[in-house]
Amino acid sequence: MQKNDLLNNNFKVCFLGDYGVGKTSIITRFLYDSFDISQQATVGIDFISKTMRIDDQIIRLHLWDTAGQEKFRSLLPTYIRDSSVAIVVFDISKKQSFENLNIWLKFIQEEHGEDFTIFIVGNKTDLNELRQVSKEELEKFSQQNNFSFFEVSAKTGENVKDLFRKISSILISSQ
Ligand code: GDP
Ligand code: MG
Repeated sequence: MQKNDLLNNNFKVCFLGDYGVGKTSIITRFLYDSFDISQQATVGIDFISKTMRIDDQIIRLHLWDTAGQEKFRSLLPTYIRDSSVAIVVFDISKKQSFENLNIWLKFIQEEHGEDFTIFIVGNKTDLNELRQVSKEELEKFSQQNNFSFFEVSAKTGENVKDLFRKISSILISSQ
């Protein structure tokens, strides 16, 4: 697939972020509207496609899930390189996963430079009482760096559809 297969509105969306932040769960919620608490850790990199209709346009998202483990990092450059957008996920109840965003952003920057569409997604809003990263911190960090940002819960489904709608409409308008 080309980076942007414009005629067919095909876009590669890559998911990055620490192990356990909920990347696979967000994708599963979006695709199947379900949540599996016994979710196994993703091994390596996997992808799945989903067709959406946005403003009378058909768009096909190729969602690339990845494991956050150190041992798979050698796969990252090729994985990131031909993406149209990157979704970098952290867990709002784990400060460290927010601090590690910089590591993931550096991988992206190495492949795409500064001018690339990035979404920062804080997952697990259902764990609000365990929150370690405030919405204001997320907002500030994202605005400083010109990223779009979202808070979602793969568990309850809160905001997950809106996230993918927003991604799709930005991809359509950017071509
Ligand atoms: P990944 O390693 O980033 O793909 O993370 P997973 O999707 O495998 O999720 C890691 C763990 O977090 C699993 O036990 C999930 O059930 C749990 N999890 C994922 N999303 C949520 C969420 O929105 N809320 C809560 N409470 N747990 C979640
Ligand atoms: Mg996973």
